[in-house]
Amino acid sequence: MEIAPNVYWFDTGGSNVYLVVEPAAVVLVDTGMPRKHGAIFNFLQTLGHAPTDLTHILVTHADMDHVGSLAALHEASGAQVWAGAASAQLISGGKSPRHMPRVVQWIIDTFMKYGAVAQGQISIFRDGDTLPFLGGLQVLATPGHTMDHFSFFSPSTGVLFVGDALNTRDGRINLTPPRITADQTAAHHSATRLLQLSPTVIACGHGTPSTRHTPNDLTNLLHSLPTT
Ligand SMILES: [Zn+2]
Repeated sequence: MEIAPNVYWFDTGGSNVYLVVEPAAVVLVDTGMPRKHGAIFNFLQTLGHAPTDLTHILVTHADMDHVGSLAALHEASGAQVWAGAASAQLISGGKSPRHMPRVVQWIIDTFMKYGAVAQGQISIFRDGDTLPFLGGLQVLATPGHTMDHFSFFSPSTGVLFVGDALNTRDGRINLTPPRITADQTAAHHSATRLLQLSPTVIACGHGTPSTRHTPNDLTNLLHSLPTT
């Protein structure tokens, strides 16, 4: 579904990916769980593009439901992969960041591996970088859910990709639950920073992307966050 001009949402089954389709680039934001590459390429095909048309893959963070199909997508397309420095390190080992309740984290660390991408194949972005998509896509460090977590904002279109910094899982814009948040204070700071951008589209990792919120909705959530 097109959620903004040239920006498409695809629900891989519990986690969202986004495609930015421009004349010079076809960009995927996040990749879903392992074995979702076929479904993502099928979706790309409905937009009139072959797998090899995919030029870039941006990673918000290295949780398996966001990087699970990264290796397969990268191999089939040759797309350039972009991620934060700590995420790139995790991805090169097929490992997940630490932010889950202890037992769950142990299960993840012990049993759940995803396809790795060699570190040399991953380009690193940093807070303050601007990527050449959607009229200039700003890279924002938004730690909290995981410590190496990035969001991407296009000021000219108002589209904000937030990964898991915000979600709409329960039908409204919210932060991820504290029990799966690495640093609650950081998560509040990041959410504040994102809401102050007054995005018109919030393309979240989970839940329906938010396209109909009012500036008031964002202000109300902003005021509900603890100030530190
Ligand atoms: Zn997630």
